[in-house]
Amino acid sequence: MFGEMTLEQSLARLIALQGPISLTLWMGQANAHYYGSRDPLGADGDFTTAPEISQMFGEMVGVWLADVWSRAGSPVDAAYVELGPGRGTLARDALRVLRRFGWAGSVHFVETSATMRAAQARAEPDAQWHDDLGSLPEDRPLLIVANEFLDALPVRQIVKTPQGWRERMVGLQDDRFVPMAGTMPLDLAVPEAFREADAQTIVEIAPAASVVMGEVARLLAAQGGAGLVVDYGYTAPQTGSTLQALKGHAAADPFATPGEADLTTLVDFSAAVAAAQASGAQVAGPVGQGAFLGALGIAQRAGALAKASPARAGEIAGALERLVAPEQMGTLFKVLGLAGKDWPSGAGFAA
Ligand code: SAH
Repeated sequence: MFGEMTLEQSLARLIALQGPISLTLWMGQANAHYYGSRDPLGADGDFTTAPEISQMFGEMVGVWLADVWSRAGSPVDAAYVELGPGRGTLARDALRVLRRFGWAGSVHFVETSATMRAAQARAEPDAQWHDDLGSLPEDRPLLIVANEFLDALPVRQIVKTPQGWRERMVGLQDDRFVPMAGTMPLDLAVPEAFREADAQTIVEIAPAASVVMGEVARLLAAQGGAGLVVDYGYTAPQTGSTLQALKGHAAADPFATPGEADLTTLVDFSAAVAAAQASGAQVAGPVGQGAFLGALGIAQRAGALAKASPARAGEIAGALERLVAPEQMGTLFKVLGLAGKDWPSGAGFAA
């Protein structure tokens, strides 16, 4: 419909014709274009993720899955499901471990980007791809993994104005995109604890993340299985915008160059837990990524890898540090465990 126009031009035209658009639409359109048009991962991309730092991350995920799958009686048909698998690196490392334990189920990737699907096919050629969770198998237990998936889903923001709470929108001012308050009263959409907050306070809600958590939990509750959700986020409800844009490993303006930077928010784990429990899954954690990986034996794995290739010992120690150190990914990143019908709860969440 917009022909040769760039996303920036088509959003500007939409706003000029219809008025400001919601931040949710802005973020959804920007990220669909962003992931659809490039592979953003790695040193010459915009950001790096845990599985791209070291094979140890995916291996620990594989160990966790293998343990819970074995204790559930090793059901032969249990399927591996990953949401937003990136380059397929996590899947490759986790599945190598799972297969060593005798698992031989089907592999399912929920991924919308054709560019990322092509990269995933190089890592796991026999995978089956899905646009969303609606077409996943309904007749078998599922082993579900999502790393840095929820943070990329569009959020809604509500801002306190002198007139009351309003949707945070994106409008145009002097040919520049700017955030602004909408006109519709939204006071009832704001959690009661925050309603009396100061002017300009922003409350962020993540309906899409809650929908995904609900769908995951419903599948596990109905079919059995287990899941791991890993992301950066917080555990107690808070106010303020956590929207950030990353471009070339540096912070960028989320309201400039839509679709050319990665837009993410911190994950509200209290909301994720509530959505999962409401749909019938058992929840463990969240715990910090460092504590989780430590409990699964990542330090021992790093030792074994270094012993096998002494020339890489420094690099392996550095990767371990990045994944688990509190001032690196160890505490900001959190791991949530999920268990479905008749499945045991997974390792690594003991207090
Ligand atoms: N899990 C990977 C990649 C994280 S980046 C890793 O840890 O390296 C986010 C991933 O989610 C990308 O593969 C992106 O294409 C995919 N993605 C983003 N939004 C999506 C959506 N709405 N539906 C399906 N996949 C999506």
